Amino acid sequence: LFGTDESRGDLKERAKRLRDEIERYNYAYYVQDAPVVPDSEYDRLFAELQELEAAHPELVSEDSPTQRVGGTPLAQFEKVEHKVPMLSLQNGLSEEDVEAFDQRISEELGGIKVDYEAELKFDGLAVSLRYEKGLLVQAATRGDGTFGENITANVRTIHSIPLRLSDLAPPEVLEIRGEVLMFKKDFHDLNKRQRENGQKEFVNPRNAAAGSLRQLDSQITASRRLRFFAYGLGELIGVPLPSTQGQLLEWFVKMGIPVCEERKVVHGLKGLMGFFHDIETRRDTLPYEIDGVVYKVNQLSGQQKLGFISRAPRFALAHKFPAQEVLTEVTGIDVQV
Ligand code: NAD
Repeated sequence: LFGTDESRGDLKERAKRLRDEIERYNYAYYVQDAPVVPDSEYDRLFAELQELEAAHPELVSEDSPTQRVGGTPLAQFEKVEHKVPMLSLQNGLSEEDVEAFDQRISEELGGIKVDYEAELKFDGLAVSLRYEKGLLVQAATRGDGTFGENITANVRTIHSIPLRLSDLAPPEVLEIRGEVLMFKKDFHDLNKRQRENGQKEFVNPRNAAAGSLRQLDSQITASRRLRFFAYGLGELIGVPLPSTQGQLLEWFVKMGIPVCEERKVVHGLKGLMGFFHDIETRRDTLPYEIDGVVYKVNQLSGQQKLGFISRAPRFALAHKFPAQEVLTEVTGIDVQV
C-alpha cells in the first residue's frame, strides 16, 4: 500500500494524532508540573513521531513538538526573553548511539581526537541566572526556550545560589544555565509533610522541584529545600570566554556557584562508556536523581563551530539510562497541579 494516497493519508493522520497526544503530555508535564504518563511512554511516542518525520519530511510542521523545546510559559509569570536560547539535548540510549555521536563530531571537527566533558544529567528543571556586575538580577525558567518565566523572587530563596558573585572583577553580564533540583531525602520529607497536612503528594523529585519553583507565592518556595547545579553558559559580556567546558565550570566554582563534582574529561568510545557505566553503578547511591549522563565537546571553540539544530546543540549528547518506572507509579498517585 505504500505510496498510495490512502497510505499517505494514514501517515498524516498518525503524525497528527502523535502530535496532539505529545502536546497534551507536554502541557501536563511542563505547565502543570504533573505528568500523566511515565517518561518512557512519552519518549516512545516522541521517537515514533521523529522517525515518521524523518522518513516523510513532508509531514514535518514548524509547530511539531519535535521542532520545539519544552512548553508554553505560564501567563501568571512575567515573561523573560532568552537572548541565547535555552535548548533541549539530543538523546542516545545505546553504545551505538554514543559511537555514532563521537564519529560524527570527530569528522565534523576535522578528524581530530575529541575531548569531551562528561557530566551528570540532572533530573530537575532548567533555570537561567542572570548576573550583572556580579549581582543576581534575574532568574528565569526555560519555558519554550525563547521565552521563560520570571522566577527571580523564588530563586532568591535558594540558599546555595549567591546573590552576589565572589569575584572582584565580575563580568558586565553573566548568564549561568543550570538545573534546580530537589534531593531525594528532601523530596521524601516534603511528601511526608504533604501527607500529614492532607495535601497532595508529588510524583517525583523533578516535579516537586518544578512545582516548588513555579509558585506565585515565594514563601512556599522558601519552605521547600531546593538546590542548584550549574552546567552551562548563556549570555556573557565583558570578559573573554574560557577555552573549555571544564574551565567554564571551574570559573563558576571560583565565583561561588554550585557545580556538581561528578564530571570528567574523557575521549573515545571507551572513555565515554567508562564514565556512563561508573555513574550507572553508583546511580542509586547519589543523593539526587539523574536520568543519564551528558557528553559535551570540551573545547568551547569546537562547541561554537558545531552549533545547533532546531531544538538542541549538536555538540552534546544525553546518554540516558534505560527506563525504570512503570505506569502505576504515575497514575497511582494523586498528583499535585
Ligand atoms: P531532556 O530533559 O531530556 O534534556 C534537556 C534538559 O536536560 C536541559 O534543558 C537541562 O534542563 C537538562 N540537563 C540536566 N543536566 C544537564 C547537563 N549536565 N547539561 C545540560 N543540560 C542538562 O529534554 P527536555 O526537552 O527537557 O524533556 C524531554 C524529556 O522530558 C523526555 O525525555 C521525557 O522523558 C520528559 N517528558 C516527559 C513527559 C511526560 O508526560 N512524562 C512530558 C514531557 C517531557
